[in-house]
Amino acid sequence: MNKSIYSGPVFEMATKQFERVADHLQILEMDRDRLLYPKRAIAVSCPIHRDDGRTEVYQGYRVQHHLTLGPTKGGTRFAPSVDIGEVAALAIWMSWKCALAGLPYGGAKGGITVDPYSLSPRELQALSRRYMQEMIPFVGPHTDVMAPDMGTNEQIMAWFMDTYSMYQGQTINEIVTGKPISTGGTLGRREATGRGVAYLVGRALEHLGIAAGNATAIVQGFGNVGSVTAYSLAERGVKIVGVSDHTAAYYDPAGLDVGELQRHIAERGRFSGFSAQSLIDPSELLVRTCDVLVPAAIEQVITGDNASQLKCRILAEGANGPTTPEADSILDQRGGEIFVLPDILCNSGGVIVSYFEWVQDLQRLFWEEAEVFDRLHRILERSFQQTIARARRDRISHRMAAMAIGVSVVQSAKRTRGLFP
Ligand code: GLU
Repeated sequence: MNKSIYSGPVFEMATKQFERVADHLQILEMDRDRLLYPKRAIAVSCPIHRDDGRTEVYQGYRVQHHLTLGPTKGGTRFAPSVDIGEVAALAIWMSWKCALAGLPYGGAKGGITVDPYSLSPRELQALSRRYMQEMIPFVGPHTDVMAPDMGTNEQIMAWFMDTYSMYQGQTINEIVTGKPISTGGTLGRREATGRGVAYLVGRALEHLGIAAGNATAIVQGFGNVGSVTAYSLAERGVKIVGVSDHTAAYYDPAGLDVGELQRHIAERGRFSGFSAQSLIDPSELLVRTCDVLVPAAIEQVITGDNASQLKCRILAEGANGPTTPEADSILDQRGGEIFVLPDILCNSGGVIVSYFEWVQDLQRLFWEEAEVFDRLHRILERSFQQTIARARRDRISHRMAAMAIGVSVVQSAKRTRGLFP
C-alpha cells in the first residue's frame, strides 16, 4: 500500500526494487518505511516573465530522501515529464548510489516540469534563478547540495550558485556541484559520469575475456552521459555501432564516427539529418546486436516487452532506472547471459566527482585532473569488486547486490544512530 504523496510508474518501480532487496536482506516490516520514504519534499511555484510579456508559472520540486549520513546530494532535472513521484524515485536511487560508493550523503533530486528547449536563454536563466531562490530555505552546503541532471548543465549550476551566494552576501561555491571551473568547479566533473561508465565497461569486458578492440557498443541518448560514454569507449578501441538521441537513431555494423556525430550535434543541436543510410526505428536500437548496450537517456526503456530480445553481452546503465523490475526478472531468467552494470554502480562516477568538487570547494584546495580520475577509478573499482563478490556469494543479480550493499549502509547508520527522540 502506498502511504505517501508519491505515485506514478517510476516511484512504483523504486518501491518494488526496494521491496525485493528488503526481502533479500530480511529487513523487518517496521523498518522498511523508515528506509524507503523520503524525509522531506518541497514543491514550489516558479513564476517568470516570458519574452512576450506574459507571466508563466512552472512547478518545481526537491525531494530529500534521508539525512542520516550527511547532507543530501543529487541532480536537478528540467523536463516536461518531471513530477513529484519521479523526483522521489530518483532521490531514493541517489541514496543507494551514494551509499554504495561510500560517500557521506543521503540522496536527493529536484526538477522543474518544463521543456528547457522551449525557453529563450534569458527565460532559462530567470527560471533557474527563481527555482534556486525558492529553494534557499531548504538547501545549504551541509543540508542539500544540488547538481546537474537531464536538461540542466554547468551554466545553470553557475546561476544556482550565484543566486544562493547573492542572498547570503558571500560566494558559496559548495552549494552546488557540476559548476564551470571558473566558478569553483572541479576538473573532470563534466566527463565523470561517461568516463566512469567506460571504465566499468572496460572492467566488465576484461571479466568476460572480451578484448575492447573486438567489442561493439550501442549508446542510447547523446546528452552529457551518452556522448562522453561513446567518446570514451571509442578511445578504448570499442566500435560504436549504434547511437540515438530524442530525434533519431542510427545503426551501422561497420561503425559510426563519434567525432562526426559530435560535430553534427555541435552544429545542429540534434541527431536528425545525420545519415539517411544508417537511420533506424528508435525502438529497434536496443535490440540490435552488440557487445555493450548503454541506455543513457531516460527511465524504463528496457521492459518486460523487450528484455528477452536484448542481444548484448553487457548492459551498462548510464541512465537512472532504465530497466524495469519486470525486465530484471527476465534478465535473471536468462542467467548469466547478460552482465549487468546496474545504474547505481554504472553511472556513479558523476556523483563521486561531485563529492570531490564539494570537498575541494570546502577546503579551497583544488586538485590536478590526474588526482580526480585516480581517486574516481579507485572508488569505482572497489564498488565493482564488492558488487560482483556479493552477487556471487548470495547468488543474486548485480542490481540486487549493489542495492543490498547501499541499503545496508543506510540501514546500519540509522540503527546505530537510533530513533530520535
Ligand atoms: N544527476 C546525477 C546522478 O543522477 C549526478 C548527481 C550529483 O552529481 O550530485 O547521479
